[in-house]
Amino acid sequence: MGDSSNESEPEPGQVFEWVDGRIDQRDDWARRRRKDIPTDKQLLVVACMDERIPVEEALGLQLGDAHIFRNAGGKVTDDVIRSAALSTNFFDTTEIIVVNHTDCGMMSALDDAVVEGLEAATDESLAEVDLNPALPSLDIGEASIEDWVWMTDDIDDACQTQIEYLREHPLIPEEVTIHGYVYEVESDALRRPGERVSERIDTRVSE
Ligand SMILES: [Zn+2]
Repeated sequence: MGDSSNESEPEPGQVFEWVDGRIDQRDDWARRRRKDIPTDKQLLVVACMDERIPVEEALGLQLGDAHIFRNAGGKVTDDVIRSAALSTNFFDTTEIIVVNHTDCGMMSALDDAVVEGLEAATDESLAEVDLNPALPSLDIGEASIEDWVWMTDDIDDACQTQIEYLREHPLIPEEVTIHGYVYEVESDALRRPGERVSERIDTRVSE
């Protein structure tokens, strides 16, 4: 937890101060929400749930540094907005980072094929199913269930879109810094959306 590894050893005669410090540090950690202590980097990360994405390692994060929300595709869904609104307005989060990635499972099929596959597998009509069991009255109105499934065809465009959704949302304060990255599973590296290596090579050749 926290910075305990950086803590200096107690000097003779100051052991009680060291012990008190440890107790205070533990109390801060255990009750940081009630004490209004933000995450160590005042950061929220929104990332895909994919098991190949080492979110903390890729962003250089330690335990305690960030709120982390992961879902299928790293998409800004209603629950991401809910979580981001709470994190930024009540827990002093000042920065949000979106992490999408190459070879995402959300790029492996078209929306309608996923809807058909889910309905075939479950023998349910998605239009009739409660999308949120705790809020059965919540439905998507005129929108299509394909939009709710929300597959991806271009991961760079998708990343940029998630950033814009967060930047423009009225429940997220304007001063919050919002950025996004594409994690390349092939090279274990982050890049900014729209900075595909292949595009850079094409550009140089054409000049
Ligand atoms: Zn993914």
